[in-house]
Formats: sequence, C-alpha cells, structure tokens
Amino acid sequence: MVNLDTAAQLDAADPLAHFRERFVGASTDLVYFDGNSLGRPVAAAADRLHDFVHQEWGGRLIRGWDERWMDLPTSLGDELGRVVLGAAAGQIAVGDSTTVWLYKLMRAAVDHAVRTDPGRTEIVIDTDNFPTDRYVAEGIAAERGLTLRWIEVDTSAGVTPDQLREAVGERTALVVLTHVAYRSAWLADGPELTRIAHDAGALVLWDLCHSAGSVEVALDEWDADLAVGCSYKYLNGGPGSPAFGYVRARLQDDLTQPIQGWMGHADPFLMGPGYTPARGIRRFISGTPPILGMVAMQAMLELVEEAGIENIRAKSVALTSYAVELAEATLPEVTLASPRDPAQRGGHVTLHHDRMREVTAALWERDVIPDYRDPGGLRIGLSPLSTSFDEVERGMAAVAQSLTETAR
Ligand SMILES: *Cc1c(COP(=O)(O)O)cnc(C)c1O
Repeated sequence: MVNLDTAAQLDAADPLAHFRERFVGASTDLVYFDGNSLGRPVAAAADRLHDFVHQEWGGRLIRGWDERWMDLPTSLGDELGRVVLGAAAGQIAVGDSTTVWLYKLMRAAVDHAVRTDPGRTEIVIDTDNFPTDRYVAEGIAAERGLTLRWIEVDTSAGVTPDQLREAVGERTALVVLTHVAYRSAWLADGPELTRIAHDAGALVLWDLCHSAGSVEVALDEWDADLAVGCSYKYLNGGPGSPAFGYVRARLQDDLTQPIQGWMGHADPFLMGPGYTPARGIRRFISGTPPILGMVAMQAMLELVEEAGIENIRAKSVALTSYAVELAEATLPEVTLASPRDPAQRGGHVTLHHDRMREVTAALWERDVIPDYRDPGGLRIGLSPLSTSFDEVERGMAAVAQSLTETAR
C-alpha cells in the first residue's frame, strides 16, 4: 500500500478550501464529479439573478440596453481575457454557443486563408476532438470544397507536436485544436502547437471549453489566432450559459464571419440597407446577446479572480493526483485513461474498465455523480473551488464498491 495523506490532512492544508462553502449544495453529502460538464451554481449567483430581474430588467426595462447590456458581451469578454485567458482587452466577445462560435470563426479563418492563398485547402483536426468541433469542420469543408486532414490520436492522450508537424504544410488553411481533451484530459502544448501551425503558414483555432477556469491559458503569449470556449463548465455560468470567441486584434478587420446580423453591424440602429461590419471584435457578434446567462458567470469569474487562476490550477493538480493515487491503490482492475504526469493533464481523470457504464448508473443512484464516456471511461471532473479532498475520497470509495457490486 502507498502511504497516502488522509483527505482531512489535505483539506486542512488547502489554501482554497474555504471557497467550497460559496457554492450551492456543496455542504451536502452528494459527491459531484462532473464539474467539467456543468459547474455547481455559485451561491452569489442566486442573489445576482434575483436583483437582475427586479432592478435591471424589471426596473430599467428597455433602457438596460443603453445603460449596460449592449456593452456586456465585450466588457465581460475583457474580464475573461484578463482573469483566465491571458488576452488583452478588445479581443473577446461573449454570446452564442461554442458550436456557433466554431462555425463563425472556422468559416472566417478558412475564407481568409483561401483568399490570401488559393492553395490552402485543408483543415487539420484530430479524430478525438470533441464531436461538435469535428462535425462543424466537416460541414464547412463540404460547404467550401475543402479537405479535412485528420490526425489519428490515442484516446488516452491527445495531439503531440510531432503529430502536428507531420500533418501541416503549404496546403493547411486552419488547424483546429482542443487545449484539454474532453475524453482523456490531455493538456495540449498551447505555445508549441501554435508555433508549428504558424511555421506552416496556417491559422490556429483553440477550443478552450475544458480549460477556461481550470488551467492557465495565455492566448496572447501563445500568439493564438482564434479561440472559443464555453462558460457552463469550469466557469459555472449555468446550463446553456453563453460561450466566448477570441479573435486576435491584428486579424479582426481582415476576417468576415458568415452570420452577419444587425448586432455586428457598424451602426446597428442605423438599420439601413446593406451590411457593413463593425470594426474590431464587435463584428463577430450576430444577434441580441443572452444577458441573463452572463449574470451567473460573472459571479464565478469574481471568485476565480479572488482565488487566482494559478492557485486554482495548483489545487486542480492536487485533486486529480489524489484521485489517481487512490485509483492506483484501491482499484487494481482499472486502468488510467488520462496522462499520469499532471503537467500533461487538465482538470479531470478518466478511469477505464469494461463495466464503467453500469458503475456510473449505480453511482448516480447513490448520489455520486461522475459521467461516462465510451469506451468504458468513467470521467471524474474535479472543479477546484467547489471540490474537497474528502469528497474525492468518498467518491473513489463508492467507485470501488460499485465495481465490486456490479461484478456479482
Ligand atoms: C463542452 C464542449 C463543447 C460544447 O459545445 P456547445 O456548443 O456548448 O454544446 C465544445 N467543445 C468542447 C471541447 C467541449 O468540451
């Protein structure tokens, strides 16, 4: 047996432990292992939403648009950039879903690439990228007569620099990469992969859905061109809260996005004939932004700033490492389907066993909530500010028990 620190010792030594009580439901016995799919609500979000309905929406009514809401997609985008994404102001807008952002930014990027060099007819993407990323890329390739070049990846890992170097070349228009792989939690090398795409003359788009609020991201420093990400995972914005899109400042006025709506117009209230895109990041907005969905996210972003993203990442590493150690000590029949080196791993851990589908169902019955991803993957997502080491220990004990029970 390995000699593990007890959960109580780890919680006592955790400088972020006190954040847990600021989430709805964290004081119950339920074990939540799916913060990477839907973060718990921040307690303050309930008050914010109440006040918003009564004062801003109920009191200011249509005046709210002039007073605050028109600017919220970009002012909240600036906050996201400053607190979690390493992006200077004026490069991020909030609204739409990640899927819609993927469509808008991939289309804008490939159209620009082909315009500049008609020989650039390929989109490079990996076979284990999130389904929506792959499907959108397939649709755009069909629409624009482009070819997809697939990188075959190990589903327990992700795209390596060598694999990307082999896939890109003078035909590459765009490289689409996910920073933390949804299945394995593989943490891709942001700056290195961006450099490899650029050396081939291609643009690069990063999907940050499983990164934002959990691992450190430095879009400007990486020299990234485009990025998207959602806010209902580690940014706790609530089911269906809006996504964000990042477009590097130097590219903005060269790109045109395909959903040219009135809110991306240079002067929305001119309401004149013909579309003239706004300058800067606003041209990537399409229609009326979802303001309600931004209110809860804002409360979480304040907690993230208070804790510090580097401290959040440190706790995330400690939590996932603890889960891996417990799995290795108590679940000999299970294999780790995530990188063992925490430097190569995002905020979740996937454990493989043929019976994990049944095990997940049994766990949900007893209020232990991980999720399941084929083939045989139990995903344990550990949202750093709302998860304790004690919760990890109780949850892993329940996994062991459910594995034993489902074997009968
Ligand atoms: C969760 C997730 C999405 C989700 O896209 P939606 O449009 O919000 O449904 C996309 N990409 C990745 C990598 C994800 O993890």
